[in-house]
Amino acid sequence: ELYNQIQQTRGNIRVFCRCRPLNKVEISAGCATVVDFDAAKDGELGVLTGSSTRKTFKFDRVYTPKDGQVDVFADASPLVISVLDGYNVCIFAYGQTGTGKTFTMEGTEQSRGVNYRTLEQLFEIAKERSETFTYNISVSVLEVYNEQIRDLLATSPTSKKLEIKQSSEGSHHVPGIVEANVNSIREAWNVLQTGSSARAVGSNNVNEHSSRSHCMLCIMVRAKNLISGECTKSKLWLVDLAGSERLTRTDVQGDRLKEAQNINRSLSALGDVIYSLATKSSHIPYRNSKLTHLLQDSLGGDSKTLMFVQISPSEQDLSETLSSLNFATQVR
Ligand code: ADP
Ligand code: MG
Repeated sequence: ELYNQIQQTRGNIRVFCRCRPLNKVEISAGCATVVDFDAAKDGELGVLTGSSTRKTFKFDRVYTPKDGQVDVFADASPLVISVLDGYNVCIFAYGQTGTGKTFTMEGTEQSRGVNYRTLEQLFEIAKERSETFTYNISVSVLEVYNEQIRDLLATSPTSKKLEIKQSSEGSHHVPGIVEANVNSIREAWNVLQTGSSARAVGSNNVNEHSSRSHCMLCIMVRAKNLISGECTKSKLWLVDLAGSERLTRTDVQGDRLKEAQNINRSLSALGDVIYSLATKSSHIPYRNSKLTHLLQDSLGGDSKTLMFVQISPSEQDLSETLSSLNFATQVR
């Protein structure tokens, strides 16, 4: 209800800001914290930009380092539920590498993230509604790296390039990718695990590789109302974006430069799409990147979008933090 309340007064884009705790290395190095949460309850984040300058940023929610996975999911959950009512939804995490994008989306086995909790809730509510509805849930797991789509559930590697096609009724899909049918959270979890392990294949440093690619989980829900016979199809994208940090001086050539340029291009394309939607522009530039093209059905129209902007509290990360916060406020 909260989500719908806010929605009546503004568009379909929500922005939640989440700050991770200082890590052990930062604590032992005596790093100062440059963010404050004095007005976090009102969705306000304070940033000390200099010795006597403070800037505030306004979001739909601000999570302090003490807020846990349960708090975060409680606010995301209305969007997840709306997928069962036929809405398309997109939830993504944006930010510098190391700020908790993967922690928010994937989480850990002890501290489950949005992806797992989403699937768990979908099954739970589907069960509650089973007298009136039948739901069919399937998932695909993709990775976008250097503007190329990789199917992380594919059982055998194919050399065929994966492309995005538009169907006659207007929806977008990638012909040939695996859509795994899942009937329980257990089955879904196994599929997510398969996706994660496929991500590691062919890269010598998994963490580095994953910070340079977009990891995209697509949940497709087919619903049938048993009383009216009405059928709906909806799509929920859960995206762990590539790190938003800018190039460093050592990255000025070779593969690393190409990667960085592709990340840059796709994240700006995402920003442009959301900005065009927010300002009700007549042309929405979905086709400028694989990322936005894939997400097209779940960005804009009557679909609902939630962006987590992830930040670090440390003074060392101040410039990247400001750049992420600016990105997020521009789209809001
Ligand atoms: P990213 O995916 O943005 O590169 P990670 O999710 O890998 O960042 O997070 C970096 C580290 O910080 C991980 O060890 C993660 O467990 C930890 N971390 C991130 N956010 C939180 C949080 N809110 N609470 C506790 N630990 C966190
Ligand atoms: Mg990550």
